[in-house]
Amino acid sequence: AKSAGGNRYELADPEADARAITRHGLTTALPTALNRGEFFIEYQPLVHLGDGRVHGAEALVRWLHPQHGVLGPDRFIPLAERTGLIVPLGRWVLQEAVRQARAWQEKQDQPGPLRINVNLSPCQLTHPGLVSDTVEILERAGLEPDALCLEVTESALIGADDALLKPLRRLAEMGVDIALDDFGTGYSNLANLRRLPVRVLKLDRSFTQSMQQYPADPVDLKIVEGIVSLAHSLDLAVTVEGVETGAQAEQLRMMGCDTAQGWYYARPGPPERLHELALVDATG
Ligand code: C2E
Ligand code: CA
Ligand code: CA
Ligand code: CA
Repeated sequence: AKSAGGNRYELADPEADARAITRHGLTTALPTALNRGEFFIEYQPLVHLGDGRVHGAEALVRWLHPQHGVLGPDRFIPLAERTGLIVPLGRWVLQEAVRQARAWQEKQDQPGPLRINVNLSPCQLTHPGLVSDTVEILERAGLEPDALCLEVTESALIGADDALLKPLRRLAEMGVDIALDDFGTGYSNLANLRRLPVRVLKLDRSFTQSMQQYPADPVDLKIVEGIVSLAHSLDLAVTVEGVETGAQAEQLRMMGCDTAQGWYYARPGPPERLHELALVDATG
């Protein structure tokens, strides 16, 4: 578009400029933020749809920025991925979350240890230290590998070659679960699932959202039903995210989904909160 006043500087979008400056500022602040301990983790419970019990939690990273306050991962994970900081940041998240899971297990007065889900970025998948770092972190914390689930997005594994799958296979052989995150958004070949060392499908929030409308879109319902039956025939568990109402939870339970996560149960929160939720649930 041509600027009306003939001043070429009017072509610049001031909001885009502000975004670029913030982006630049955040990018340069990322490495020191890790050293200064400005990142922290919130935990959101994963609930069995069958009996409503908390069986684990997903670790979600946040940045307490000295000027901007708490920033969500969507603000800085893409920047960390572009600069490579995601590798040390992701390692820190894994270490912290695994340590926390072990602490919950030690405090738990009831049987049924809490499991921990941690997100992996595609850059971490291609990093040669993934398997050895994970083994070391689990051993140091004293957490069994089968209490850990690593979440990888469907899009990161589309067209994945054997080199990319090898570290995931090794982790799966050790007993670590691999979940396919944001499932249903990546248009992956469903038959391809058999090739992947995956145990869990995490159905994307968009499906749950479309169930919010009443009546829910019948095509979406059919798709979810199809995914659930395919997943179960391949021995995969189905987790649904973004469950915000009891009606959704009931609908998804009837459709055969195994586990759910969402604001209906709890928003992400501090580790003490998750321990309370799990205990209340185990005793009552
Ligand atoms: P995700 O892995 O799909 O995580 C689920 C997101 O949905 C979280 O957003 C969570 O707070 C939000 N959520 C949970 N329940 C509900 C609900 O009922 N309704 C709605 N509307 N939203 C809900 P969050 O914490 O902002 O994280 C965004 C994304 O950032 C995550 O999406 C994940 O892809 C990424 N992320 C978070 N932590 C990490 C990390 O440690 N490493 C990496 N690589 N990525 C991370
Ligand atoms: Ca996730
Ligand atoms: Ca997800
Ligand atoms: Ca997502």
